[in-house]
This record gives sequence, C-alpha cells and structure tokens, in this order.
Amino acid sequence: MPKKKKRILFAAFEAVPFIKTGGLGDVAGALPAMLNGKDYDVRVVLPKLSSISKEYTDQMEHFTSLEVPLAWRKQYCGIEILHYQGLTYYFLDNEYYFRRDRAYGYGDDCERIAFFSKAILEMLQYLPDFIPDLIHCNDWHTALVPVFLHEHYGHLTQYQGIKTLFTIHNLKFQGIYPKANIGDILGLGGTPAEPQLEYGDTINFMKGAAYYADWLSTVSPSYAQEICTEYYGERLDWLFRSRQGRLSGILNGIDTKEYDPSADPLIPANFTVDDLSGKAACKAALQQTLGLEVRPDVPLVTMISRLTEQKGMDLLVFILDEFLHEDVQVAVLGVGDERYEHDMRYFSSVFPGKCAAALKFDAALSHQFYAGSDLLLMPSQFEPCGLSQMIAMRYGTLPVVRETGGLKDSVKPYNRYTGEGTGFSFANYNAHELLFTLKAAAQLYREEPDAFAGLRRNAMEADFSWAASAEQYKALYHTLLAKG
Ligand code: ADP
Repeated sequence: MPKKKKRILFAAFEAVPFIKTGGLGDVAGALPAMLNGKDYDVRVVLPKLSSISKEYTDQMEHFTSLEVPLAWRKQYCGIEILHYQGLTYYFLDNEYYFRRDRAYGYGDDCERIAFFSKAILEMLQYLPDFIPDLIHCNDWHTALVPVFLHEHYGHLTQYQGIKTLFTIHNLKFQGIYPKANIGDILGLGGTPAEPQLEYGDTINFMKGAAYYADWLSTVSPSYAQEICTEYYGERLDWLFRSRQGRLSGILNGIDTKEYDPSADPLIPANFTVDDLSGKAACKAALQQTLGLEVRPDVPLVTMISRLTEQKGMDLLVFILDEFLHEDVQVAVLGVGDERYEHDMRYFSSVFPGKCAAALKFDAALSHQFYAGSDLLLMPSQFEPCGLSQMIAMRYGTLPVVRETGGLKDSVKPYNRYTGEGTGFSFANYNAHELLFTLKAAAQLYREEPDAFAGLRRNAMEADFSWAASAEQYKALYHTLLAKG
C-alpha cells in the first residue's frame, strides 16, 4: 500500500504571484510547490486581498462560508479555492478586513491579522479531507495560529495532532499592539496565553509564536544563531535561547528561471559563464542609461536595495566621498528614507559620470543592474537571508557584504592565497572596514583581472536554487512530524 502523504498547510499573508510586498512573498510563492509531491500534500492559505489580480480571482471557486469568532465578534469568512500550477490555494475572504489598497499598515491591523489566524483554524473544521499534520506559519501575520490552536482549539480531537512550525523572515516586525487588545480582539484575556504574549506594556504576536510553536526556523543558519544574542534578538533573544534545541535556519533560494543571464529577456544581451561578452555589453548599456562614462576598465559598483539603515546606507554615505576619489563608478537603484535619497542625489551631482542614483522601484531596471555591474554592495546591519547577493552572483556580479545572517551563509569571501571565493566581506559594522574592503575589491578588478574572473566563475556556478532549501525543509518536517 502506498505511504500516506503528510498534509502541510502553508500559511502566509502574501505569496507571488497573488500578493507581494517583500521577500516573504517570493518565498511563499516558490517553496510550497517545491515541497508538494511524493511525501507531502502541501496547500497554501492566503487572505483574499483586493489587490489580487482579476486574472486569478475570476478562477477562484467559492467553497463555503463560515463565521469566525474573534472575542465578542462573529465575522463572516468566505473560503475560495484556486488550483494554480498544481497547488491548492485557500483564499480567506472578508471584504471588511481585506478590501484595502495595501496589505498592511492600517489602524486595525491587529484585528485584521488576528482574524486571519483565527479564520485559518476555523476553516479546518470545514475541510474534512485536509486536517493538516503540520501548519507552517510565516512571520508575525500568522504568529497567532500556534497560540489560538493551543488555547482555543486544543480541546477538539481533530486538532490535537496538529504540529506548528513558525518561520521568521524578519524579526524586526513582530506585531506589537496595546495590551487592551488581548481580551477585546484576541479573546485571550485571563488565559495562560496572556503572560506569553505580554511584552512590557504591550502584547507581541511573534513572542506568542516563539513560545507556542513546536519548532522555530529562520531563513538562514547564521540568523538563527544571531537572534539568540542581544544585538540581533530584538528583546526576544532570551526566549530564542530557551528554545535553541528547536530552532533551525534554512537559507532561502532564488527563482533561477527569472534570474537567468543566459535567457533573461529584460537585459540587453544574454551571457553564460563560458561566454561573458554579453555581460560587457550589459555593462556598457547600463553605464549609458545611467549617464556614467562608458568604460569597460573601471569597476562599476551598485546597490539594489531599500535605502534604509538596515541595509547599511549610513555606512555607504559615510565613505562614498572618499571612495569616489578612486577610479570607480557607483550607482544605486532604490527607494527608502528621504535622507539617503537626498545623499545619493547629492553625490551624483558632485561626481557626474562616476556616480548615479535611480531612486525608484523598477524590476526591469534591477535586472539590468544585476547584469551590468561588477560588484554589488550589501553592507547590512542585519540580514535574515537577503536575495540580492544571490541574484548578483548568478549574473557574475560579485557581492561585497558584511558577514551577517544570510550574507555570511551565501557569500564565500575571497582568499587571495587559494583563489577561492564568490565575493568579498568584512566583519564589523564599521564604515572604514567597508571602505577598505571595497577598495580591495575594486583594485582586484583593475589590477588582477584573472583572479577577478576566477571569482566570477565561482559565483556563477554556485547553486542558489530552491531545490537545495526544499530538501532541508522536507528534512525538518520529517523530524518534526516524527516527534511525539
Ligand atoms: P529585503 O527583502 O530585505 O528588502 P532582499 O535582498 O531579501 O531584501 O530582497 C530585495 C529584493 O527586492 C531583491 O529581489 C531586489 O532585486 C529587489 N529590489 C530592491 N530594491 C529594488 C528597486 N528599487 N527596484 C527593483 N527591485 C528592487
């Protein structure tokens, strides 16, 4: 008799191609399909936000409607089913909560997000053929699932075997709200969950998941260790330390079809590791687009990023003047804090032909940046995983990173004695370490082209596909489901 597949419900507030606000959307869009198959029946649950394109909503089938209890409220929830590229998606529909222009950032987010978690659990009573063995929750938007499961559904037989895995994509966003909400919205006042959610004078959704989930994971092994320290732990480090035996880190992958220099339709010329002539054409085109001097011999350093402190922008603007006195070019593609946008405008006006700033979000242009650059800068303060460095390597653009989180786990620093490496890195969050590392990388480009070419080959040949990550998630599911 064939082995019965384990059932996994993958819960997230966003997933490509339906909803995307950040990296979580990419992960939730790619990973479930890689996990679904021989051993696991993986289905995905998402909110039916009004931003989802009509192309998909037209194909959804109404399955049923139910009422979701949320403290003293009872709220309507429609379940819409979509079969898309071999996967089953459940979309939870409530126009009062989800008919908004943006996914998050509203005054009633606490209630909207609590509703989503509660509705996921309520829905299971209507899916007799799919009581999950495991609910894989992602970030603070689904952090209340393990809490509600334990406190509100634990007495129901069909819920008793359900395990929960909680994956942290970014600890910076935890879902912190005034304490009064614990009774009025969550309906958890006076329960054992109350002290577990309390966080000073507030309540914290992620703290609840960190306590109640059967297992925790982050999106890189280094970040899993880092969140156990005070510097990175966002005042929850003590809780993560106490759960270290059930905390793993698995590096994200990238979409190797979307980011494929040999077939990418968004770049002016395609190229491969064995024929980089197209890359030279991409560089010349990018220099032209950005108003930089069109020169193959000068290293072109770029940054494709949100312009925020997390991404190390303060380090960059601190050293940029000195760095631009070298024979280098620097260009930034990004939007973010006004002060950094202002600084980048300033540097491009003071160093015309050497420095450029494209202060916008432009997916097509980002491909041209990845393809046309020599070095990609990512001096992050913290980086749960980071995708840009992996995309850059695929396009033969060597990352210059700070050794933190996923950057540390994905970029192998250059070793001048062995020639090994896929990029350059520095350890401390220090502007002069960044400057020194950047200067060394630029110098290698100018003066040792063979060594630079060797690194480029290593970077382009590295495997950052989802297949490798998916194998690790499968192993984690296996471990978790095997435990009693
Ligand atoms: P984070 O999710 O913290 O912003 P990541 O490195 O994980 O950082 O992912 C950033 C993604 O967003 C990458 O795919 C990157 O190419 C893309 N990106 C960032 N800024 C821009 C921009 N201005 N235009 C186009 N794409 C961008």
